[in-house]
Amino acid sequence: MFEVHGFAAKDATSDLVPYTFSRRDVGASDIHIEILYSGICHSDLHQARNDWGNAPAENFPMVPGHEIVGRVVAVGPNVKKFKVGDLAGVGCMVDSCRECESCKRDLEQYCQVHTSFTYNGTEQDRKTVTQGGYSTAIVVEERFAVKISEKLDLKAVAPLLCAGITTYSPLRHWKVGPGQKVGVIGLGGLGHMGVKFAKAMGAHVTMITTSPSKGDDAKKLGADAVLISTDAEAMQKAASSFDFLLNTVPVSHDINPYTSLLKLDGTMVLVGALTPLDGVIGGSLMLPRRTIAGSAIGGMAETQEMMDFCAEHNIVSDIELVDMASINETYKRLVKNDVRYRFVIDMATMPKG
Ligand code: NAP
Ligand code: ZN
Ligand code: ZN
Repeated sequence: MFEVHGFAAKDATSDLVPYTFSRRDVGASDIHIEILYSGICHSDLHQARNDWGNAPAENFPMVPGHEIVGRVVAVGPNVKKFKVGDLAGVGCMVDSCRECESCKRDLEQYCQVHTSFTYNGTEQDRKTVTQGGYSTAIVVEERFAVKISEKLDLKAVAPLLCAGITTYSPLRHWKVGPGQKVGVIGLGGLGHMGVKFAKAMGAHVTMITTSPSKGDDAKKLGADAVLISTDAEAMQKAASSFDFLLNTVPVSHDINPYTSLLKLDGTMVLVGALTPLDGVIGGSLMLPRRTIAGSAIGGMAETQEMMDFCAEHNIVSDIELVDMASINETYKRLVKNDVRYRFVIDMATMPKG
């Protein structure tokens, strides 16, 4: 075991404070990553505050962070993919059973036995609590780390590990491409990646936002059009016109105004709110034959595919670099929707000792 510096929530109501804890030594198939940057996902805040009711007392102190990038500083003897000095990334998972149907299909996020989430989870022993990326180092089995191109801006790569794969995966699964009209709902961390990916995949992309002030940014990110969701008249005009909607809204909300935007056989995929949604109008799904679906992050193979896609298309996140010590202030800004479009912690600012 070795000592790592991090920031943790001591319980679901406390601010994050400096916290020193231990990581396991490098095992045969493990890599040890010195963390350089860690993205701040809205899920970090949800879990640190137990908004989803999935954070038992024994998972505290909780070190959040599942958008992790850094340099490999040690590798176990069986490691094939990485060597010391390589860049590596870790996302929302650090292990899974590897044997169930989902794992065999490279869909470890849907493991039917036990997915070990990067923090607020347990290792496969179901006892050892996992701790995330707001820390100086992590040890992970190589299957759960991805390779990162040296040509991308590393600090802006971090959010790809969650915001990136969470939007890339459904766009691929539902085969979004040229000739399709796609709407991305909510211009935050996930939404801005959704716009970039859908555009790179050749779709016509509309940013659907509650914030008129984000319209210009949406265009800069690649959106062809902007639809203000609070403008009832504009929403009415856009009714039944979208093939695919990617809904990133982070809280329970009325989804009916959005489903109305889908055309025949259109699909809206929910990736944002995990909490109950307000009453869905059945008739609005039946006429005209609309689908609501959900999607969670992406498997490790697909995460690597997304990283390679980003290197090929020169795609990274638009970020604001923040200091570790400003984390509580940064969380407040995230809640106020004051993020353009992902906060990333510079791990060099970690207070030591
Ligand atoms: P974020 O950066 O805070 O962005 C969310 C955006 O949604 C906001 O910028 C805002 O955009 C819009 N919004 C906020 N409140 C709204 C409301 N009440 N009604 C309508 N729109 C609202 O959050 P994020 O990091 O992108 O995360 C989004 C959600 O995805 C979170 O709940 C997170 O936990 C979840 N998540 C899920 C997965 C998964 O695997 N499915 C993975 C990662 C994250 P506008 O100003 O443009 O309206
Ligand atoms: Zn996340
Ligand atoms: Zn499994």
